[in-house]
Amino acid sequence: MSSIRILPEAVANKIAAGEVVERPASVVKELLENSLDADARQVEIEVEAGGKRRIRVADNGCGMSRDDALLAFERHATSKIRSAEDLFEISTLGFRGEALPSMAAVSRLVLETRVASEDSGTRIEIAGGKLRDVKEMARPAGTEVEVRDLFFNTPARRKFLRSESTELGHIAALVTHYALAHPEKSFRLASLTNEILKVSPVRSLRERIYQVMGTKSLEEMVELAPAERRLPAAAVDADEESGVAAEALSAKVMGFVSRPEVQKPNRNHIYFFVNRRLIRDRLILHAITEAYRHILPSNVFPVTLIFLELPAAEVDVNVHPSKTEVRFRNSGFIHDLVRDTIRQGLIAAQPVAAFPSQRKAFPPMPAAPGVGFVEAAPRKLELQQAEQLYAPASGDVVGEGGFRLAAPSPPPDTLSLPLDSTGTGEPREGEAIPYIAPSASEGTRAGVSEFPLDLRPLGQVEESFIVATNAEGLFIIDQHVAHERVLFEHLLRLRRERRAEGQRLLLPIVVELKPEQQVTYREIADELNASGFEVEPFGQRTVAVKTAPADIASGDVERLLVEILDGVGAEARTLSLDTLGSKIAASVACHAAIKVNMPLDREKMEWLLGELARTTCPMNCPHGRPILLRYSMKEIQKAFKRI
Ligand code: ADP
Ligand code: MG
Repeated sequence: MSSIRILPEAVANKIAAGEVVERPASVVKELLENSLDADARQVEIEVEAGGKRRIRVADNGCGMSRDDALLAFERHATSKIRSAEDLFEISTLGFRGEALPSMAAVSRLVLETRVASEDSGTRIEIAGGKLRDVKEMARPAGTEVEVRDLFFNTPARRKFLRSESTELGHIAALVTHYALAHPEKSFRLASLTNEILKVSPVRSLRERIYQVMGTKSLEEMVELAPAERRLPAAAVDADEESGVAAEALSAKVMGFVSRPEVQKPNRNHIYFFVNRRLIRDRLILHAITEAYRHILPSNVFPVTLIFLELPAAEVDVNVHPSKTEVRFRNSGFIHDLVRDTIRQGLIAAQPVAAFPSQRKAFPPMPAAPGVGFVEAAPRKLELQQAEQLYAPASGDVVGEGGFRLAAPSPPPDTLSLPLDSTGTGEPREGEAIPYIAPSASEGTRAGVSEFPLDLRPLGQVEESFIVATNAEGLFIIDQHVAHERVLFEHLLRLRRERRAEGQRLLLPIVVELKPEQQVTYREIADELNASGFEVEPFGQRTVAVKTAPADIASGDVERLLVEILDGVGAEARTLSLDTLGSKIAASVACHAAIKVNMPLDREKMEWLLGELARTTCPMNCPHGRPILLRYSMKEIQKAFKRI
């Protein structure tokens, strides 16, 4: 090996550029962050050829003096930190002093800037890391950076760039999300042919989401009730010594997350900001996945726009040159806070009314979607009228109060609703299913109370959907998914209390398994037996099911078992017992639940609605499908032009 030498600065910059500048979107990110750090109120971005040919970012921020502008291109030149201690309390987006020299090393770059208090500005031109020209110029206060021909001198890198539209897509996503993080600023993104985004300052994140994504996206999202939790004591002590006010030492979470009906095939729509910095973090992804557990199926992902604010000392952003990874001082605490806040928001979310109501005008929006019912007195009267209008069709049985009731045909044997499981007067905490942390129970209960507790069933539509009412309006409940949710939570409870019982089958059912299924079976045999099954190996490739979970028709046992084995599949080894138990419970619940096209008498409907209200998550089935639709009195009155 030859002797060691220090690399010339130009080479070092190129190496650094490899980490900081991966693609045109990373240039936009660095420039945008600089503009935001410079307190710009307005940022304009123009790109050509997906940013490969040209990127220009102009701001009206603080600008730089001539000397500073020149210094900015030195490696590790920054105005944002001074000492190593500052690294532990970073409040700006940038701090490494690497972005400008890195970009300048791999492009043709022009920077123009002026400080408002100075008469003239400065223009600096650099190509491939070499200073070409510096001169004075007249220009408005603020800074403008143009990056042309990215990677012109590193052809290998240039080859890795994707199509113009892919690169532009990355840029658009990035700018959009910075715009969302800063509703009080204006942003404009344009290509040669299109204005992709243009937003003026607004006061709230909700308004900004509306500007950027439109009404439909807003309706698909649930606004999280802002949550604030005091940080664990150790951090507080440390800061009390340094005299920082104790009330500042809490972590706050706010934002929007998608309703369970929204299901994305990948994580690309999960956006998470820490102190307004967009980050990607495994811990946070895990917290989000946990929050959606049993609300979304495991292979699909939500849309999130979550903002975490915490004291700068609580988070280390100096983990990676791209500054998108962070380390939290209290990672478990942050994980749980994020998970619980989302979970509570989802549980408290009102169901979507899927009726053709008039589009809500914007602004002003109601404080929370779906709240704001009309006064009590007129509502009652009109509801009575509505009940009478809900006229019995000839031949149908009419119950008291003009209700149309489904014909009281006795349900088939397979429908043995566990009427004894109503948990007579059991405290609700005792019923909480395991995946909600104790600390969440407070909010969980608050969430549950948002669910209509006093629904009265009016009848069924097509023997599949229960129509119910209370003073708030009209509800339609999917009877299958409602029962599925009730059974699911019931099964989890039984499993936790080790009381899961099955029905012994008259004759064991022999099921032939494929090789992968055999492997999975061996992995999860104990858990199956803890979930109401009694399955035993029987011959080489077959198992015998002697007992199946309650309410599973014998003709359905084989299909259920195979579905569980295939559903768990290769994951079996990596799943925790709780997750595995829940997966099994979800499948069993789906098979045991009453189906659509099944007549229910009034008593059964009442039972089902009552049980549903008692579940911890009455809005969605364990696979994420909505359980009920709501048509509020206000919407009904509006539709009839009464208000
Ligand atoms: P960092 O942002 O990590 O400090 P950069 O290389 O991105 O490093 O920028 C170097 C310095 O140049 C910054 O610290 C800042 O003082 C200055 N600077 C860069 N962009 C701007 C801008 N748009 N407006 C004002 N100052 C800027
Ligand atoms: Mg920077």
